[in-house]
Amino acid sequence: MPARHLIIGAGTAGLNAIRTIREEDGGASEITLVAAERPYSRMVLPYYLDRSIAESHVFTATAATLANWKVKTHIGKKAASLNAQGNTLTLDDGATIEYDDCLVATGSRAIRPSIPGADLPGVHSFWTLEQAREVIAGIAPGSHVVMVGAGFIAFTILNSILSLGAKLTIVEIAPRILPRMVDERGALLVDAWLRKHGVRILTGVALTRIEAARGKRRLRFRKGETLLADLVIMATGIKPNLDWLEGSGIRMNHGILVDDHLRSSAPNVYAGGDVAEGKDGVTGAPVVHAIEPTAMEHGRVVGANMAGRDVAYRGSLNMNIVEVCRLDVASFGAWDDPNAEAFTGLRPERSAYRKLCWSGDRLTGAIIIGQAADVWTTNDVGMLKGLVHAGVRLGAWKEHLRRHPFDVKPAFIASRTTEALLPQTILGRPSRTPELPATVIR
Ligand SMILES: Cc1cc2nc3c(=O)[nH]c(=O)nc-3n(C[C@H](O)[C@H](O)[C@H](O)COP(=O)(O)OP(=O)(O)OC[C@H]3O[C@@H](n4cnc5c(N)ncnc54)[C@H](O)[C@@H]3O)c2cc1C
Repeated sequence: MPARHLIIGAGTAGLNAIRTIREEDGGASEITLVAAERPYSRMVLPYYLDRSIAESHVFTATAATLANWKVKTHIGKKAASLNAQGNTLTLDDGATIEYDDCLVATGSRAIRPSIPGADLPGVHSFWTLEQAREVIAGIAPGSHVVMVGAGFIAFTILNSILSLGAKLTIVEIAPRILPRMVDERGALLVDAWLRKHGVRILTGVALTRIEAARGKRRLRFRKGETLLADLVIMATGIKPNLDWLEGSGIRMNHGILVDDHLRSSAPNVYAGGDVAEGKDGVTGAPVVHAIEPTAMEHGRVVGANMAGRDVAYRGSLNMNIVEVCRLDVASFGAWDDPNAEAFTGLRPERSAYRKLCWSGDRLTGAIIIGQAADVWTTNDVGMLKGLVHAGVRLGAWKEHLRRHPFDVKPAFIASRTTEALLPQTILGRPSRTPELPATVIR
């Protein structure tokens, strides 16, 4: 069994892999961690932005935890090139590290359109802790914030921006908001809800340049009015951090192509999280799901395999869940499959919408939108996710849902979805605390 494990990246995938190796081997192997940043969770940055949590709460594994897990660390160092034949990694300071097996978990980074002014002071991304600090320093009550892009990440920070007392305008090049998360009907509902809550939204507008304008930023578009902003946030997409692997021979498409054990084309090099292009659990197609649950599951599976177990991954579930101004918006699985049979339900008076997509009598995708104050909305988010995830056959309940798309609970209970999901664990066993020798645990 390999004795020298190298983990590149200290985000969700990297840390879950380390923890799982230690759950399995109790400290027997050598683990080296290389990470450009100190370990923290990107997902909690919106709560840091609105000051619900202090900066100290964004950090995940402390130096003490990593020492307890017997991990050698190179924090603040970047992987620069991988020699997959020679089993060595070269860092940005020229140092080299030898490994028996390694995990590439370098996540992704925010990208901006290449327009003049995209790098001006006052124009920010919101992906890293450093960028979050810059945004916090730039926003004050009454600031006019222009968010460029109306996708999932923009929506994760929307509440925080409003709660800081800023005025928010969202500009989106697509004809509607959330183009990759909900369908057109759903988007219209969310759009109307946000406008009612004071958010200005401009869709179908192409940003062509940003200029400095006496302490502010002026945004120019292909057509129409210009906008004057105190602060601009570019939520215009992300890209996996793969450039440093050029020339390594590792097979890549949108991400690193991995098999069902999350091995890349080099069998002792694994990939997980935002950089990995692995199996979608519903469609079976290779896909990059740049979301937290996939990174966590990838990390667990890779860790177990590195520790010598033989764990195949069932595939990840596409899911996006966000709450904006007390409206829950969620989509799961293959919600946008144009070939799927689909039922929809709309209750405009409650700002509620459902779309259920089917393959035979199995639910393969769903969209759910509804007010968080309507108790059934939050419950149904969980139940619809469970139904898509479990892929149970719903038999006659399919017809019930066709007639009553808002009445999910009886179908969920009758199909025994909880019983189908409960025994399923990623590693085929319950989670446990890493048990290290007494000399190591303080
Ligand atoms: C504001 C925000 C909100 C989000 N909200 C949600 C949400 O609600 N739900 C959800 O599912 N997902 C959410 N996400 C996405 C989620 O955070 C990511 O999918 C997840 O962090 C991916 O984990 P990862 O381990 O693949 O990568 P990351 O967590 O990005 O970790 C990558 C690690 O690699 C390091 N690294 C990068 N390049 C190198 C290099 N060359 N050498 C060495 N180290 C390197 C980084 O420093 C970091 O330690 C959110 C993201 C953001 C930014």
